[in-house]
This record gives sequence, C-alpha cells and structure tokens, in this order.
Amino acid sequence: MTDSRHRFLFSKGNIRGIWVNLEAGYQQLLSNSDYPEMLQTTLGEACVASCLLAATIKSNGSLTMQLKGDGDLQMLVMQTLADGDFRGMASWAENRKLSSASLFGKQGKLVITLDPGEGKKRYQGITEVVDDSLLLSLENYLTRSEQLPTRLWLASRPGEKTAGLLLQQLPDADLEYWEHLTIMADTIKSDELLDLDVQDILTRLYHEESLQLFPEEKLRFSCSCTRQKVVDMILGLGSVEAQQVLAEESIFEVKCEFCSKKDCFDEIDLETIFTTGKPPNMDDKIH
Ligand SMILES: [Zn+2]
Repeated sequence: MTDSRHRFLFSKGNIRGIWVNLEAGYQQLLSNSDYPEMLQTTLGEACVASCLLAATIKSNGSLTMQLKGDGDLQMLVMQTLADGDFRGMASWAENRKLSSASLFGKQGKLVITLDPGEGKKRYQGITEVVDDSLLLSLENYLTRSEQLPTRLWLASRPGEKTAGLLLQQLPDADLEYWEHLTIMADTIKSDELLDLDVQDILTRLYHEESLQLFPEEKLRFSCSCTRQKVVDMILGLGSVEAQQVLAEESIFEVKCEFCSKKDCFDEIDLETIFTTGKPPNMDDKIH
C-alpha cells in the first residue's frame, strides 16, 4: 500500500492522473539528517512532487528538483528516476529558528532538470519561488514551461508519510471536463490524501467518472553514490588539497549527503587514488 505510484486515465476528455504515497522511503530519506519539522514537511512535498513529475517522463529518464533559497532553507535537492528510485537532501541555516514565512527567502529559485534518457537533450527550467510555497512554485513552473497543463495536490505528515495527486491534460484535452475534475480534486483534504489508498481516493473524488487504473509501480529510496564517484571528487580536489585535509583531520572522510554513507581514506589510500584514479581495494587493505 505504501511507497507506490498509480497512474490512471479518464475514459473521456484526454486527461490523466497519477497518485503517489510514500512512507518507508520518506522516513529513510529523513533519517540521514536531523531535519527540523518544517523541513520534513517541505522535503515530503518535494519528494512526492518529484515522484509524480518523474512518472510523466520515459522509463529511463530522470528528474532533478533543486530549490535554492536565501532564507532559512539554503538548498534542497531531490533526484528521481522514472523507474521509481528517489533520493533527496536539504541544508538549512542551523543557527536560525525556521519560519514558514521566510523558509525560501526573497530570491528563492526552483530549478527543474528533466533528463529524458536515451541520449536525448536535457531540459532545464528555472522559476522564482512564489509566496514561499513549493506547491505554488511548482505550478508556476509547470504553467511557464509550456508543457501539458498540470495541477498538483500535496500533503505531508512530518516524519511519517507523504502523498500527492497529479492531474494532467493530454493533447486535445476537454477543458470543461478538466475544470470539473480539478474542482473535484480541490475538495480532497490532506488527511484523506495521506490515509486513503488509491481506490478509496478515486471513489471519493470520481465515483461518477469512468476511468482506468493501471497496476501499482513500486517506489524506493535509493542512493546512486559509488566509491568511484567519491574518488572522482577527490581527484577533482587535487593531491595538494587532499593532503592538506588529511594533515588537518588525520583521516580523509567523505560522507554522502543523500544516504549518510561514509568513506574513509588514509595516506596510502590517497596515494593509490592519485596513481590509479581508482578506489583502493578494501579487501587487501593491510595498512
Ligand atoms: Zn549516497
């Protein structure tokens, strides 16, 4: 029932819908940092929104959502693969008391990058953050990016679960029918979105409509970090800089901000990295 996505298609009007509900994966994402409650809500909404939007791209594509603010939230990144893997993190001004009125600041930006996969060209859209609201900013982005008109409904219970609904016009959509469907969706309450399963939501909103519900797709928290990517980062830093860190800290530690996985390197490891460009083999580690 949880961490899943369902697509559905109305029998008339060329309008489709997507529903997402996350629990275990959302909790796993939150466990990587000591996020304040307000950020847990924002992360939940961002997570669900990106799982909804990623479903509109091809199966080997990906979607990256970045929120850069000058308010209490400094940066939020959410990466979602069309096939259901997602990861995300946020950083915030830890010495400030978070406030919903200044979470994103005055010059917040929302950047959405769509990678359709198969070597096709990436698309990047940038929009201002509207009214300190992720939802409004996303809808603003969707309207401006000349894609198919889309509406989103998002809900989060911080630390517990998060869910959302998307309606999207397909080419030649019936605009009157669209109006009717979105007015119905506007009546859904956050608790209903969070606690009802897809069947109950569709019955609650659209029991008079004819629609086709597609099989469940599983979603999961999954980080794509690898030791080679860490090594590439160290190579990018350069030998002098890396040695300096090692001299100060006695061990070179790299922590993945998405999944909290740690990689530690000593002097001999760094030597291996800068000679071979590869991660040191942990199996025959003798030092
Ligand atoms: Zn990771």
